[in-house]
Amino acid sequence: MSATASRTNSSEKIGSTLAHLARAMKTPTIAKVWEQLATTARDEGWSHEEYLAAVLQRQVADREANGTALRIQSARFPSRKTIEDFNPDYQPSLRRDVLAHLSNMSFVPKADNVILLGPPGVGKTHLAIGLGIKACQAGHPVAFDTAAGWVNRLTEAHQRHGGLDHEIKRLKRYKLLIIDELGYLPFDADAANLFFQLVASRYEQGSLLITSNLAFSRWGEIFADDTIAAAMIDRLIHHAEVLALDGESYRTRTRRELLETTNPTTP
Ligand code: ADP
Ligand code: MG
Repeated sequence: MSATASRTNSSEKIGSTLAHLARAMKTPTIAKVWEQLATTARDEGWSHEEYLAAVLQRQVADREANGTALRIQSARFPSRKTIEDFNPDYQPSLRRDVLAHLSNMSFVPKADNVILLGPPGVGKTHLAIGLGIKACQAGHPVAFDTAAGWVNRLTEAHQRHGGLDHEIKRLKRYKLLIIDELGYLPFDADAANLFFQLVASRYEQGSLLITSNLAFSRWGEIFADDTIAAAMIDRLIHHAEVLALDGESYRTRTRRELLETTNPTTP
C-alpha cells in the first residue's frame, strides 16, 4: 500500500472514531468542527494543546448558546425586550449604575429580589424582560408570568390533591420568577393567600422580580388585607433592590415627540 493510501485510510478511521466519540459524549459540535480546525491548525502551526482548546471552545460556545435559547423559550416572555434597547435617558430617576449592577446578575445567586414600581408605560415590563433575558444568558432558569397568571397556576395546582406543595417545590428550580403587573387586578382572599405562600417560599431561596403600578403603601388594596400586604412586603424587601420609575409614559412621550417633529408648531 502506498503512503498516501495508508494516510487516507487512517484519516477515514480517525474520522469515524471521532464521529462515534462525539456521539457518545453528546458533543455534536466537535463532530462538525474537528476536521476543518485540524486543517487550520496544520496551516497555522498550532500546538496540540491549541487545537484541543479551539475544538472544545467551539463546543462550549454552541452549548451555551443552545442553553440560553432554550431557557429564553421556556421562560415564556411575552415579547423580546433587551436591557440594551432600554434608553435610560427617558428614565432619569433610574440610576445607571444600579441598572448595570442588576444586569450583571449577581442578585440571582444571592436569591435577592428586584421590585420595579411606577405608573403604566414607564418601562417596567421592558426592564423585567430584559433582566430575565440576562438571567437566561447567565445560565439561570427563569419563568415569567403576570401576577394574575401566577395566581391562576397556583389555584389550578391547589385544586389537585397535594398539588400546591408540589407546584411550589417545582418552581424552586427557577432561580428567577418574574411577576409582572401586580396590582392591576385585586385578589380575593384565596388568591392573596396563595400568592403569599409563593412569596414566602422564595424568601432567601430564589429571586423574585415583581413589577407593580402601586406604591407599597397601597398594596393593602391588592390583597384586601393590610396585614398580609405588610407581611409580604417585609419578606420581599429584606434583600431587594427597589426601583421607583416615574415620568411620562414612553408610549405617550414617543407619540408626542413624533407628532412634534412631523407637525412643527410655528411660533
Ligand atoms: P410598563 O410595563 O411600565 O407599563 P412597558 O415596559 O410595557 O411599560 O413599556 C411600554 C413600551 O415603551 C414598550 O414597548 C417598551 O419597550 C417601551 N419603553 C418604555 N420605556 C422605554 C425606554 N426607557 N427605552 C426604550 N423603550 C422603552
Ligand atoms: Mg407592564
